Amino acid sequence: MSNKTIPLTDALRAYLLDVSLRETDVQRRLREETARLPESTMQIAPEQGQFMALLVRLMRAEKALEVGVFTGYSALTVALALPPTGQIVACDISEAYTAVARRYWEEAGVAHKIDLRIGPAVETLDYLLEHGHARTFDFAFIDADKPSYDAYYERALQLLRPGGLMALDNTLRGGRVIDERAQDDSTRAIRALNEKLHADDRIDLSLVPIADGLTLALKR
Ligand code: SAM
Ligand code: CA
Repeated sequence: MSNKTIPLTDALRAYLLDVSLRETDVQRRLREETARLPESTMQIAPEQGQFMALLVRLMRAEKALEVGVFTGYSALTVALALPPTGQIVACDISEAYTAVARRYWEEAGVAHKIDLRIGPAVETLDYLLEHGHARTFDFAFIDADKPSYDAYYERALQLLRPGGLMALDNTLRGGRVIDERAQDDSTRAIRALNEKLHADDRIDLSLVPIADGLTLALKR
């Protein structure tokens, strides 16, 4: 028994996956292909994907935003949880990574739900804001370059409807948030954003210790 979050050993995580992970064949194969890349750890954990999919279903989201697509696992997982008429605007700068993503989205039959925008995500979000998409998104997932998280947060918050949910990834930074020697731009940006969100009365907040830390910000 514990009244605090217990440390998740590798063995306990393996058990958790054993008794709860539900993935389609396409999701599993995308994970296996991505695992062969040197940057494979950029992909979200599958149990985190399943959690986000559950949130998307719980709130009956129809319109989603993703910042940071990589090989497409999180977008695939959210797309599978959206209704047939659902849409994700997915932002990335890499044609190479997202070429992998497109293959699996096609295979899973969700490509028509995913509007991939290649380019710096701040520009894409500003474009959406200038073209009538403010307050129209139900769900947003932020998982790209950490120094820009605050810029993504501010823009995504405007794009969400009241009651819309933002999930921000890697907010524990592998534990580096509490290591004073870690002064890289990414860790400093995440620390500053964590502190800002704590005091931000525009949102309800929970920092969920799943995977590398997933902050949930519910727009008031
Ligand atoms: N959510 C993905 C998944 O589940 O596999 C992982 C995303 S990965 C951590 C971060 C992605 O952000 C990379 O694919 C990278 O190309 C993209 N990225 C980096 N800087 C960006 C920028 N300025 N605008 C848009 N995407 C960017
Ligand atoms: Ca991530």
